[in-house]
Amino acid sequence: MSDYYEILGVARDASQDEIKRAYRRLARKLHPDVAGQESEEKFKELAVAYEVLSDPAKRQRYDMGGGEGGDFFSSMGFDASEIFNTFFGGMGASGPVPRGRRGQDTLAYLEVTLEEIAFGSTRELNLDTAVPCQRCEGSCCEPGSSPRTCTTCNGSGSVVRLAQTMLGRMQTTVPCSACAGHGTVIPNPCSECAGEGRVRSRKKIRVEVPAGVEQGTRVRLSGQGETGPGGGPAGDLYVEFQELRHATLRRRGDNVYTEVTIPMTSAALGTVIEIETLDGMQEVVIPAGTQPGTSVTLDGLGVGRLQRRGRGNLIVIIDVEVPTKLDVQQRELLEQLANLRGEERRQPPNESGVFGKIREKFAGN
Ligand SMILES: [Zn+2]
Ligand SMILES: [Zn+2]
Repeated sequence: MSDYYEILGVARDASQDEIKRAYRRLARKLHPDVAGQESEEKFKELAVAYEVLSDPAKRQRYDMGGGEGGDFFSSMGFDASEIFNTFFGGMGASGPVPRGRRGQDTLAYLEVTLEEIAFGSTRELNLDTAVPCQRCEGSCCEPGSSPRTCTTCNGSGSVVRLAQTMLGRMQTTVPCSACAGHGTVIPNPCSECAGEGRVRSRKKIRVEVPAGVEQGTRVRLSGQGETGPGGGPAGDLYVEFQELRHATLRRRGDNVYTEVTIPMTSAALGTVIEIETLDGMQEVVIPAGTQPGTSVTLDGLGVGRLQRRGRGNLIVIIDVEVPTKLDVQQRELLEQLANLRGEERRQPPNESGVFGKIREKFAGN
């Protein structure tokens, strides 16, 4: 980036008036309408130099920064084309604007079950979107008719306007309003799409759900988004996977977790239980002496690994239920067991008093 004082041809201690005068003189000389398109870059440079040096605060920062244009720019948060467009209304576009434009990208959400994620699957997605108009095949014209050259701009898409600016009277080029800058008009628009070249419709799209895909992952399906107007190409479709909550299984990465509650006696004596897995019902052996909170791992019954072989594991977390209500016989048996095991136990205080009753109420008994 060159020196702003050099661009404006002024001394480092030039006054604001001198800077302004230098800018006006050079702007008249370098304006692309006067000097042609080759001078556009130089003109932009000039506009930037003036933007900075005409503002005492910006000028001071520039002076302190030692003229490192690039750094200065990023720190000030603007760019040359922005200034250029502010000054001259985006002029500089040459030739008519094509009628066909690329369609918008589309984001669709696809809800997938844990089973679909575990094994991977193919789904069909219904998308309400813009598709090419069959009647005019994107030409926007009623069949048998065609666009004609705009008489206002003679097909150039732009018109020249005289404007009074801070630099004096100047010619500026603006898009032709009669043809919206296209250079052509459509005398007989297609009756199906009202001259848009596209219509709204529902289309079905096949989406691959990769095994092991994470919640919130987006895949891009090139050219499956909205069809552009005027026969323009379609945008891209982004599909974001939303993982549906499974009734009993929770996923973390490749592994799947489930919680099972077994009676105290089963935990002590050992048992075989049946649990729901991604692969259907499965028997799980609970060894004698299983403690609450311990887990049993079933290898390879988790979620398929994304872009790798194999699957994660299914981890069964065991909870142990202690009986809350015992009848007389059960109580006697447990007391007997405690005695046999030599477990010392102190009888809790009698709960039949007033406070005990209140406590029972609060406990929901
Ligand atoms: Zn049409
Ligand atoms: Zn026109």
